[in-house]
Amino acid sequence: MDIHNILDQIDEIIYIADLASCELLYLNRIGRERFGTPAPGVKCYEFLQGEENPCEFCTNGVLPHLRDKRVTWVRQHSAVGNMLLHDSVIDYEGRPCRMEVAIDIDRYVTELDTVQSDLAAEKKLVACIEDLITNSDFSSAIDSMLNTIIEHYHADRAYIFEFDWEKNLTRNTYEICRDGVAPQKENLQAVPIEVVALWVDIFKNQEKKITIIEDVDALKDDPARRIEYDCLHPQGIKSLITVPILTDGKLHGFLGVDDPHAHMDAPELLTQVTYIAANELQKRLLTEALMKKSYQDPLSGLNNRLAYAETLEQLRGKEFPVGVGFLDINGLKWINDTLGHDMGDKVIQKICGILEEHIEQQYIYHISGDEFVILWPEVGYQTFMHAAEDLGAALSDEENIASFGFVWGKEEDTGIAVRKAEKAMQTAKNKFYAANTERKDSRPGYLDALLQEFRDSIFIPYLQPLYSIRYDRVYGAEVLVRKIDPHGNIHTPVEFIGIMEREHMISMVDFTMLRQACELIQKWKPAWPDIVFNVNFSRNTLAEPDFLERIDRILSETGADPAQLIFEITESSQNIQLESLYDRLDEVKQRGISLAIDDLGTEAACLEMLYLPQISVAKIDKSLIDKAEHSDREQLVIRHLVDLCHDLDMRCVAEGIETDSQIELLKKLGCDRLQGYKIGKPMPAEDFFHRFGETALHKK
Ligand code: C2E
Ligand code: MG
Ligand code: MG
Repeated sequence: MDIHNILDQIDEIIYIADLASCELLYLNRIGRERFGTPAPGVKCYEFLQGEENPCEFCTNGVLPHLRDKRVTWVRQHSAVGNMLLHDSVIDYEGRPCRMEVAIDIDRYVTELDTVQSDLAAEKKLVACIEDLITNSDFSSAIDSMLNTIIEHYHADRAYIFEFDWEKNLTRNTYEICRDGVAPQKENLQAVPIEVVALWVDIFKNQEKKITIIEDVDALKDDPARRIEYDCLHPQGIKSLITVPILTDGKLHGFLGVDDPHAHMDAPELLTQVTYIAANELQKRLLTEALMKKSYQDPLSGLNNRLAYAETLEQLRGKEFPVGVGFLDINGLKWINDTLGHDMGDKVIQKICGILEEHIEQQYIYHISGDEFVILWPEVGYQTFMHAAEDLGAALSDEENIASFGFVWGKEEDTGIAVRKAEKAMQTAKNKFYAANTERKDSRPGYLDALLQEFRDSIFIPYLQPLYSIRYDRVYGAEVLVRKIDPHGNIHTPVEFIGIMEREHMISMVDFTMLRQACELIQKWKPAWPDIVFNVNFSRNTLAEPDFLERIDRILSETGADPAQLIFEITESSQNIQLESLYDRLDEVKQRGISLAIDDLGTEAACLEMLYLPQISVAKIDKSLIDKAEHSDREQLVIRHLVDLCHDLDMRCVAEGIETDSQIELLKKLGCDRLQGYKIGKPMPAEDFFHRFGETALHKK
């Protein structure tokens, strides 16, 4: 390659001049770009220095006499700035010449400065990440991070927005501005997500999840982006970068810088910081949730006793009046003791509903099981009295579900006002009991309204498959009731069977299930003529005077074959001895219906039940089956229990089978039938038929 081509490719100024005459023989590309193209014969001092005579500092005189004929020195050029110069003697076109390579030091100094400042900025970012992780004051750590971002990007403003997806809003939660730049946070507390919909799309769907707007003004005429312009322009923003903040893979918010003047090409740094910030944000959210929980009653969702104590403390010595109320539920203890805590919880939830209809939730405190306090600071007399009187009226309308007292005024210690309100509540309670003497310590009147929910609910059967080991097929199902409440929620029996038994409403459920089972026997007859349904019967139902008549009515009205029914009974219900029902069981058996002991091995069904000759099926409870794999001893017990049942001419069903190994074990132990999640969970009738009914005929 020609020497000139090589020199032209070098990014430093290089020229060649005759040692004797100073004639400028060559100037490379960079030199020509700086000084122009030299005319033939022009002297180097004329062309490069604008001098009429050779320069004083010219090395032409000394160069040939130096040992290696070269010299490196520094000089400031009036036009170019500080130059590092390498002069050497070369032979050029047959004559001795000086070649000078002039390196622009200023450029290197600037580049070095930038590199150093980048490094410093990155160091700062690392420091602020450290700060985020170690600083217990999350807000100040975020602020220092935003400050560093402003410095790094030479930006006007740095900020974090968080999304409220339920309300479809985004909110500016942190903001730092450069000196002289107006803060915007206060104005940006409820920005519709629609405004940043495009960014959300980028954050969610694009590989490089960064939004860069280089010129906000350019959005003005774009109809799709006018909404962004209308939000950004009034804030005086010209350009911006935003990156998403993701927590648990979900879009939580975004971090942004307005008007960055440096490092626009390196937005990745923002992403890295944001990643760390997101982790910390998530921690903050968890902490907030925990804090909230520690001040919240889990059942009612209201402020708890701790919140109450702290609020009382905060109100101490305050100048303003406080509206105070004290509410006590009537007969909650009776309900808990008699109908169980599920029913008690329902009463509490009902009270909460009534309270919140009249008083803002933030002023209500659930201080113990049946007591609620209202602390409503800075409320006017009229407002409080109206709300409290309306609340009192609503409570009496509900059959005096609770007693309520209230006061309004200013006390040094609000605790004194609470005691006054409590006293007023007690007076109201005494009055109520005096008027309803027969009700004292007995069944509260409002209960009937609550129990109405049970009457208004719909009961549907879920079917859980029963599997025969000998025939290797699902031969039927246990009918398990599910309650659908007036709001459409599905409830399992644990939530309501107890209450319904105590309230003598269980027979309604049992007979509903029996009728449904009989109807399904008839409906599925063509496809599954020998299906067997196990129906659960509470002892209370069994003891009802018209028990047999109702069974007969259902059998005759549906036409179902009683041989396809097995009634499951336990000993669970209150004080009704099975012996007293001996004749009942005989009658059932005479009708061709089989009887099973449910939950054998628990206190609900002790071995004594095996004395009953009417029983032909024993269902071994899950609790026994669960332990079967533990040791040989447990297996021995089950084996002998199965043998005992067989000797008594009974079949054995193992309940709660959840694994393959349990299936194998129970086969080995001689069990006849299996039930459990491994074979199938309880499911709606259509699903059951779809899964097991369509193949029932082929499998026979
Ligand atoms: P149960 O008669 O012993 O019914 C078996 C219960 O065990 C069912 O609970 C069933 O879902 C559950 N189960 C079955 N297999 C497994 C398993 O592999 N793992 C586990 N963890 N659980 C399993 P469910 O449906 O909640 O019923 C609970 C109880 O409510 C029944 O126990 C029965 O005593 C009662 N019940 C259900 N329906 C009626 C009804 O119509 N009338 C009456 N009086 N009682 C009913
Ligand atoms: Mg059962
Ligand atoms: Mg059972």
